[in-house]
Amino acid sequence: MPKVHHTKKLTAVYDRLYAHYGPQHWWPGDTDVEIITGAILTQNTSWGNVAKAIANLKAVTALELEPLLAIPEERLAELIRSSGYYRQKAARLRGFFLWLGSLNSGDWRAWLKKTPMNEARAALLAVHGIGPETADSILLYGADRKTFVIDKYTLRFGARYGLYAEKTKYEEARTYFMDHLPSSAKLYNEYHALIVRLGATACKSKPLCAACPLNQTCRAGKKAV
Ligand code: SF4
Repeated sequence: MPKVHHTKKLTAVYDRLYAHYGPQHWWPGDTDVEIITGAILTQNTSWGNVAKAIANLKAVTALELEPLLAIPEERLAELIRSSGYYRQKAARLRGFFLWLGSLNSGDWRAWLKKTPMNEARAALLAVHGIGPETADSILLYGADRKTFVIDKYTLRFGARYGLYAEKTKYEEARTYFMDHLPSSAKLYNEYHALIVRLGATACKSKPLCAACPLNQTCRAGKKAV
């Protein structure tokens, strides 16, 4: 299928989702450190649980690397307990922030923003506990870099809609979106957020196609409604 066809299809999906749900104002977080913290804590849990953990952290310290690293790991684990796997996540957070703080003579913000994408991504993926969804979330939402975030909602929706095959994996889906959309962090930011909204409200594991804004153009939805 010609590339332009995919681009048109993806643009039409975006326009329809945006018209239906409006702007999603992602990522919910005031600073880059807060966003990075959220990206790590949200692994395997709902955002509500993460929001409680972040509120606990904010109540005791500033969300910056040094004050966070000054919290003993056991205490950190208690503060983020609501996010689940809290001991593992406390170790992960500390390990990540120690690594981040060691980059570029401490100017990790410049490193995140300026390191070539493939290099930055590979370095993040080499950190213990950082998978592609977390790495891309940190780069896109924490550093405004042009990388598309894929998650379970995106894989599910894309296969049902007919964008790609059912067992498509993370990297393949990411490449699909990035190859067929204009290269824009703003667009990637909003598009991913809209897909998450779609996945949470309509394209659930048991899809609610009758209430879905994409049901007139979705391959699975047309059969269902
Ligand atoms: S129409 Fe149904 S299957 Fe298609 S995206 Fe919407 S909820 Fe998912």
